[in-house]
Amino acid sequence: MDVFQRKEGLLIVLSGPSGAGKGTVSALLRERMPELTYSVSATTRPPRKGEKEGVNYFFKTRSEFERMIANDELLEWAEYVGNYYGTPRRLVEERLSEGKDVLLEIEVQGARQVKKRFPQGVFIFLIPPSLDELRRRIEQRGTESEEVVLSRLKRAEEELKEMSRYDYVVVNDQVERACDRLCAIIAAEHCRVERL
Ligand code: 5GP
Repeated sequence: MDVFQRKEGLLIVLSGPSGAGKGTVSALLRERMPELTYSVSATTRPPRKGEKEGVNYFFKTRSEFERMIANDELLEWAEYVGNYYGTPRRLVEERLSEGKDVLLEIEVQGARQVKKRFPQGVFIFLIPPSLDELRRRIEQRGTESEEVVLSRLKRAEEELKEMSRYDYVVVNDQVERACDRLCAIIAAEHCRVERL
């Protein structure tokens, strides 16, 4: 065994209810760890103001997305508050086999599918400091209709119940601190004997 030769990269899965701050925390993490590959998902959700094709998401029509499913182009996919979301398979598999770490920012149903294929992945659940704070963050985003806000809140409460399936829980009380914890988890996972 050559302990100096990393075989496969780490697959890091970050989930957490809408409003937990996944986007903000993962943006900071990517700044701090530029070597990390961030997997850009495909979605049928319309772009929010400022979102860019290929940067935030690959924006698809429902039929385009369904074609991706049929062609087995997605590592996982799920329906979330009326839209499809999925992880394009190719980049993830390529980068992992090159020994590079890959970050997926996905909801809980998708994470379950990934866990089946990659039980060796690192599953991290990000939570807000309180349910009240979660509500405040979802309402304050201000980009969605009241109906969507309510569906996201309901879904967030359901998602919180999935926490025990994850390897780690990180409280996002403050973005820098949450990011410190993620970096510490990733560093520790690289040191695990079974990964050598
Ligand atoms: P949003 O519409 O707020 O960007 O994302 C809604 C939810 O979908 C979030 O929990 C986000 O993490 C999740 N999501 C984003 N991309 C994917 C994906 O590729 N697969 C799955 N299963 N969920 C995703």
